Amino acid sequence: MAVTSHASIKSRDGVSTLACRWPLLGQRRPLVGYVCATVALDLAAIVLFAASTEFTWRDVLTFGALMGCGAVCIEATRRLGVPAGVSRDLLSAWWLPVALLLPPVYALFAPIVLQILLQVRVRATVLYRRVFSSAAIGLAGCTASVVFHWFVEDPRVLPQDGGLPIIYAVVASVLFCLLNIGLIAIAAHTADPDIAWREVLWDRESVLLDIVELCLGVMVSICCSLNLGLLVLTLPPVVLLQRSLLHAQLQAAARTDAKTGLLNAAAWQREADTEIVRARRTGDTLALLIIDIDHFKRVNDAHGHLVGDQVLVGLAATLRSQLRDYDVVGRFGGEEFVVLLPGADMEEACQVAERLRVHISHMAVPAGGTLIRVTISVGVALMSIHGDDLIDLLAAADLALYRAKELGRDQVCVPVAQQPPPFPKTPPPPRSLPKDPNL
Ligand code: GH3
Ligand code: MG
Ligand code: MG
Repeated sequence: MAVTSHASIKSRDGVSTLACRWPLLGQRRPLVGYVCATVALDLAAIVLFAASTEFTWRDVLTFGALMGCGAVCIEATRRLGVPAGVSRDLLSAWWLPVALLLPPVYALFAPIVLQILLQVRVRATVLYRRVFSSAAIGLAGCTASVVFHWFVEDPRVLPQDGGLPIIYAVVASVLFCLLNIGLIAIAAHTADPDIAWREVLWDRESVLLDIVELCLGVMVSICCSLNLGLLVLTLPPVVLLQRSLLHAQLQAAARTDAKTGLLNAAAWQREADTEIVRARRTGDTLALLIIDIDHFKRVNDAHGHLVGDQVLVGLAATLRSQLRDYDVVGRFGGEEFVVLLPGADMEEACQVAERLRVHISHMAVPAGGTLIRVTISVGVALMSIHGDDLIDLLAAADLALYRAKELGRDQVCVPVAQQPPPFPKTPPPPRSLPKDPNL
C-alpha cells in the first residue's frame, strides 16, 4: 500500500515531516503503546489465520509469483533512490491481489516479505517503522480479504458472474485503503496531537494516488485470476508508473527541507523571486518576514540536538498552520525561517508576524518529562518601501531582525527609518484562538 509509516504532516510539497518525530518515539508513550498494540494484533492474526488455513501449492505459487513481481518492481526502481521521510509506492498493485485471490493469511505475510526486501535492498530505516508498516498493511489487507471472501467464495471467478465479484473486489480494495490510511493517521496523530485530523487523513494528491493503486490492484487481480502467466504483461506498466512516481517524489524532496518539511532555502528563493516579479507587474503589495528563534543554542545545550530538532519541526508546523496556503514559507538555515506574504501591506504583515510570535511563544514541545518553550524575533520588510528585489528585502528584514534582538528579543521589528520600533506587542490571545481565515 502506498502510505508508509512515515505519514504525514503535509507541507506545500506534500512531504511528510512525521519521520522527524519518530526518532523520539521513546518520549511518546501513547505512540509506543499504539505501535506495539498494532504489531501484537498483527502477530495474533498471523497465528490465528495460519492455524485455520489449508496451504495449497496453487496458492503458494500465486503468492510467490505476486511477491516476485513486487521484488522486480523494487529492484527496477531502487537505483533511483528514495526521498527522505515520506515515500509512496505502488506495491499494493501486488499485495491487493494477494488479499483478494488468496486466503487472508497471505495478506498478512505479503507486506512482511516486501518490507524486508525494502529494508535490505532499498534503505535500511529504523526497524520499528518497517515493522509497523508491515503490521498496518497486513491488518488492512487481511480485513479486506476476509470481507471479499465472505461475498465471493471462489476468487478465481473474478471476471465472471456478470462482473459482480469485480464490484466486491473494488469495495474490498477501498476498505483496504481506508483501513491502512486510518491506522497510519492514528499513528501520526498520536505522535503529534496538535496536527489536525484533516491534515493526516486528507490530501488530494494522496487520494489520487490511492485511486490509481486501487485500479492497478484490481486489474492485476483480474489478470492473475484469468491466468498467472498474465502477470508478465502487468509488470512493465506498473514498474513504469512506480518509476515516474518516485521521480516526482524525488523532485519534490529536492525542494524541501528534510527536517521541517518546509521549502529549503534555494526553493524558497526561487518561489519568492517569482512572487516578487508578479507583485511588481501587478502593483500588489508584498511583505517579507525573517524569523529567528531566540537563544536556540541554549535549547540544544540543555536538552540535546534531537530535542532542538523537535522544536524546529513544531515551529514549522505552527508557521504552516498560521499562514495562508499561498504564503511562501521556507527554512532559511539553522533556526532561521523566512515567510513571503503576497498582498500584505505593512500593517497586515506586522499583524501576521505578531500573531506568529504569540502562537510560537505558546507552543510547548515535550522533552524528557518537561515542556520546552521558545520565543522568536521577527524582522519585517515591505516591497517598494524597503526594497524592490529579494536581496534588498532580505537585507532590510535582516536589519529589522537585528534590531529586535538588540531590543531584547521576543518581538517584531521593522527597519529603523520606516516606523517607530518595535511593533507594539499584543496581549496573548487565548490558546484556542481559531485561525483567521482571511490571513
Ligand atoms: P539568538 O537569540 O541571538 O538568535 O541566539 P541563538 O542561540 O538562537 O543563536 P546562535 O546563532 O548563537 O545559535 C544558533 C543555534 O542553532 C546554534 C546551532 O547549534 C543551532 N542549530 C542550527 N541548526 C540546527 C538544527 O538543524 N538542529 C538543531 N537542533 N540546532 C540547530
Ligand atoms: Mg540565527
Ligand atoms: Mg537564534
